[in-house]
Amino acid sequence: LKKLCFDTAVVLFSGGQDSTTCLYYAKKNYKKIYALTFDYGQRHKIELSAAKEIAKFAGVEHTQLEISGFKQLGGSSLTSPNIPVSSELSPANNLPTTFVPGRNIIFLTYAAAFAYQNNAGVLVTGICQTDFSGYPDCRIETMNSLEETLRYGLDADFKIVTPLMYLSKAETVKLAEKFGALEALSLSHTCYNGQKPPCQNCPACLLRARGFQEAGIPDPLLVP
Ligand SMILES: [Zn+2]
Repeated sequence: LKKLCFDTAVVLFSGGQDSTTCLYYAKKNYKKIYALTFDYGQRHKIELSAAKEIAKFAGVEHTQLEISGFKQLGGSSLTSPNIPVSSELSPANNLPTTFVPGRNIIFLTYAAAFAYQNNAGVLVTGICQTDFSGYPDCRIETMNSLEETLRYGLDADFKIVTPLMYLSKAETVKLAEKFGALEALSLSHTCYNGQKPPCQNCPACLLRARGFQEAGIPDPLLVP
C-alpha cells in the first residue's frame, strides 16, 4: 500500500461556485492543497479562465489537465454546441441535457492519479446529491464504491471528501461565507450560457440566485 499524506488534498476545481467553496473548505482543513481543473472541451472556456483567476486569488497551486474524449462522445449540451441547454429533462434518460455521462467518475480517477504522484491522500469534490440535477455520478453510493475502487486500483488509501453532499444551495452559500470564500465567489463562473455578467435566466443562474436569496446573502458576482 502506498503511503499518502492525509493533510494534503487535491481539490477538483472547475471555477464554479461549488468547487470554489470546496477550495476554501480545503484551505481551512488541509496543510497543502492542489487545485485541479479539467479542460474537457466544455462549451465555455470562460470556466477555465475563472478557475485560473480564483486559484491565483486564493494562493493555491493550480494545474489544468486536458481530457479530450468527451467532445468526441457528444450527447451533452456542455460539450456539443449543437445541443442547446434546456430546462426540460432529456426524454432519453430523464436527466438534464447538461449531463455528461461518466464525467465525475473519470475526473476523480484522473484526480487520484494526480494525487498519487503528489502523495496527496484526500480528494475533495463539490458534488452534491441534493442538487436539482439528479446526476447519478453525484450520489454518495457512487462515491463510496469509487473510493474503494481507487484504493484497490492504485493500492493507495485515498479518501474522497464531499463537503457539500447533503447541503442545500442556501447551506452551501452559508458554508462559503464561513470559510471566507465570498470574495473569491465574485470571480466564479456558473452560467450555462457562458455569459459574464451572467444571463440570470439559465437553470444554473436561477439555481445560484435562489441559493443566495435563501441564505440572505447578496451574490458577490452581482454586486457592482
Ligand atoms: Zn446563465
